Amino acid sequence: MTWHLPGPSGLTAMVPCYNEIDCIDRCYTEIAREVDRYDDVEILFVDDGSSDGTLERIKAFAAQDDRVKYLSFSRNFGLEAAFTAGFKYASKGWTVQLDADLQSPPAEMHRLVERAREGYDVVFAIRRDRSDAWWRRAGTHAHQVIAAHLLGIEIPLGASVFRVVRTSVAHKIVETRMSTPYFLATAPLLGARYAVEPTDHSPRQGGSGKWRLHHLVMHAVELFVGFSYRPLMALEVTAATLSLALVLALLASLWVGSGPVQVLGAAALAGLLGLQAMTARYLIRVMRVQARTFPGFQVRESNIPVRPEEHLYGYEMQEQMSTHARDTVVVLGGGEDQIPAYREARRLGYRVVGVDLRPDCLGAQLADEFLAITTRDPDRIAGRLDHHRVAAVISPASDAAQEAVAALCDKLGTAHRVPEGAVRASVDKTAFHEVLRALGFATYPAVHGSDRETLRRDAGRLGLPVVVKPTDSSGSKGLTCVTDAAELDAAIVRALDGSPSRTVVIERLVAGSHHTAECFIVGGELAHAAITERTLTGVPHLNSISHVVPAALPEPIVVRVREMIAEVTAHLGLTDGPLNVDFVVTPQADIVLIEMGARLGGNGMPLLSREAFGLNTVEAALRLALGQTPDLRATRQQVAMLHILHVDREGTLIGVDGEQEVRARPEVRLLELFKRPGERVRPYTQANEKLGYLVIVAPTHDELRRVRDEVLATLRWQIAPDLIDLADADEVGEADPGPADAAALPTHPTRGGIPA
Ligand code: UDP
Ligand code: MG
Repeated sequence: MTWHLPGPSGLTAMVPCYNEIDCIDRCYTEIAREVDRYDDVEILFVDDGSSDGTLERIKAFAAQDDRVKYLSFSRNFGLEAAFTAGFKYASKGWTVQLDADLQSPPAEMHRLVERAREGYDVVFAIRRDRSDAWWRRAGTHAHQVIAAHLLGIEIPLGASVFRVVRTSVAHKIVETRMSTPYFLATAPLLGARYAVEPTDHSPRQGGSGKWRLHHLVMHAVELFVGFSYRPLMALEVTAATLSLALVLALLASLWVGSGPVQVLGAAALAGLLGLQAMTARYLIRVMRVQARTFPGFQVRESNIPVRPEEHLYGYEMQEQMSTHARDTVVVLGGGEDQIPAYREARRLGYRVVGVDLRPDCLGAQLADEFLAITTRDPDRIAGRLDHHRVAAVISPASDAAQEAVAALCDKLGTAHRVPEGAVRASVDKTAFHEVLRALGFATYPAVHGSDRETLRRDAGRLGLPVVVKPTDSSGSKGLTCVTDAAELDAAIVRALDGSPSRTVVIERLVAGSHHTAECFIVGGELAHAAITERTLTGVPHLNSISHVVPAALPEPIVVRVREMIAEVTAHLGLTDGPLNVDFVVTPQADIVLIEMGARLGGNGMPLLSREAFGLNTVEAALRLALGQTPDLRATRQQVAMLHILHVDREGTLIGVDGEQEVRARPEVRLLELFKRPGERVRPYTQANEKLGYLVIVAPTHDELRRVRDEVLATLRWQIAPDLIDLADADEVGEADPGPADAAALPTHPTRGGIPA
C-alpha cells in the first residue's frame, strides 16, 4: 500500500547528523524501511561536519539507494544550521525531521503524518516519558514556560525536533529567521497551522549526545530576546526608573550630605551597569541581523545542487558551469534502435547517460554512465542526473519513452521539446485517431477500453480480422492479429497484460499495402520524407520484416501522403523534429494513416535513410534536441532495402556462418548483428527478438530482392540444438493488397516478395 499526504506530494525524511558513526547504519535501515510505504520519497542526510566517518557511510547508502541525498558541511555548524539546510534543500512536498540516534523512533513518523492529513502545516512530536537527563528536561520545561507565560511567546509546549512539516512552510520558517533559527517559535509567528502529537522517546542507540548546559542556556536566551519585546521594554522601564532614582539620590546628597543616599546611588549605578550589559546583548543581536549575509552554514560536498552562496566552493563551481556548459546527452532506451544516438552523441563530443530497465542491454556498454531504471519514470531519472549538465534528452524509436523525454526536457530546461499534443498522439492511439477525425482523414473502425467483457462484445461488431494491442506499448508487445473469433478473448488478455495502463485498442485490420514515411520537419516544412514499402510477418504478429525505398506508389499518392503529413504536423504544432508515420494504401487507393511517432523510426530506419539518401537523421535529431540547426540535405537517391534478420525457432546461438562472405558483397552496405554466440534467440513474435539489420542497395527493386535472397541463403544461423536456415524464416509480403477476409491472410510461412 502506498500512502498519500494531503496537498503537496512526496516525503523527505531529513536527518541531521554529527559524528553518528555508531548509529548511522541502523538509522538508515530503519528510516528506509519506514518510508517504503510512501510513494515518492527521498532520505536527506545533513552531515554537520562529522569527522568520524559518518559521511562515508552516508555516501555508501547513496551509492546503492538512489533515494538517498546528502549535504555535508565544511565544519560543525550546529543542529539548527543542519536542519535549516535540510529544510531548504528538501525537495518533496512534506519533510519529516528525524534524529540520527533514533531517539525518536522512525516508526512513529506515521502518526505525525496521520495528523498532518487532518490539515496541519506542522505536526510536532511531544516526547512521552522523555529519556534525557533531568537537567535537560527541567531546563527545557522552565525556559519554555517562561517564554510562553512571562514573555508571551507562542510556542508548542514540549515540542521536539521530531516533526512533520509542509516543506514550503519549512522553507519560510528557516528563511524568516528572527536572527535566530528558533523553529518552534517561528512556526506560530508565521501563522502556520500546527498540532502536537505524543510519541515515544527512547535512549540514544549509540554514540553520545551533543547537548551541553551552555547550549541550553544560549538556546533559551535566543528565544527570550529573539521573539519578545518584553525584556527590552522591562529594560527601558527599569533604566528610566533607576536614572530617576539616581537624580533624586544626587539631589538628596546635596541636601543632607552623604550616608544611605550614597549607598542608594552606588546601587543605582551598579544596576545601570547591569542594564548596560543587557543592552550590549541586544546590540550584538542587531549587529548580527545587519551582518547576516552569511547563511549560517557552508556545504563542502553534496549529491544535490547547492546554491553557490551556501557552498564553500560555490563560485568556483558556478564558474565551471558557465565555461563548460551543458555537456551530457541522455538517451532513453538501450536497444539496437537507440544505439546510433549513443554513437552520434559521443561523436559530437558529449558524455552519454544511457537509461534502460535491462542492465544487460546494448547501451549499457556504450554509455559513459548507465542507469538501470525504467525509461517511463522521469522523476527517478531526473533524480540521478543531479551531477550532469544535460544538454539534450532523446529516445529514437521508442514511443513508450516519449512522455518521459518531454518531462525531462521540461525539468532540465533543455533547448528543444516536442509539443504536448504531438507526444500524446505518438503514445496514445485514440489521441491519434482524434487528430485524424479532426482533419477529416480516413479512419477505420476501432474500439478501446479496459474491460475484457465490454471489449469482446464491442470487437464482435468490428468484424474480423482485427488487430488487438495495448494502447500504450511499443514494439508490437502484446499485439495479436485475430482472424478467428475463438481467439479474441486470449488476445484481449494478452494486450491488457502488455499495457502499463491496462487499456487496449482493437482495430479492424486495414487491407492494403503497408508503408512508412520517415520524415523530418524543419521550420514547419517537411524537409525530408522517405516513403518505404513495408513487408510484415504473417498473422498473428505483424512485425516488420523489411523496408524498401522508394516505395512503388503512384506519384499522386505520394504527393497526397506528404500533404496529409504536413496537415497532421500543422495541426499538432510540430514545427521541428523527426516524425515516423505508418500508413496503408487500400486497393481502392485510399490512404489510411495507422500511427505516428514524433521521433526517429525504429527497425533501423535511420540506417536506411543514410544509405538511400546520404542523410544522417540521427545527427539531425540530436542537433535539434541540442538546440542547433539540423542539416537535412540529401546527397544521393538510391534504391535500398533494410531487412530485419530473424529466425523462427528458439535456442542458443552458436554462431553465424557466411558472415564474411556476405560482408564482402558490394551491394551489402551494412550487416549488423545484435546477438552474440551463447545468447538466447527466439522466434520473431515481438519486435525485440530481432537478430540484426541488413542494408543492401541495388539499381532496381528486382535486383534488391535477388541480392536479399542470396544473402539470406548464405547466412546460416547455428542455433543449438538445431541448425536453422534463415531463408526458411516465416515471412509474407503484404505489399500485394488482398481481400481483408481471414482466409486471404496467410497463417503459415510463405515467401513474400517485394513489389517490382
Ligand atoms: N546534531 C547535529 N549537529 C550538532 C549536534 C547534533 O547535526 O552539532 C544532530 C545529531 O547527530 C542528532 C540530532 O542532531 O541526529 C540530535 O542530536 P543529539 O542526539 O545530540 O541531541 P539530543 O537528542 O540530546 O537532543
Ligand atoms: Mg539524541
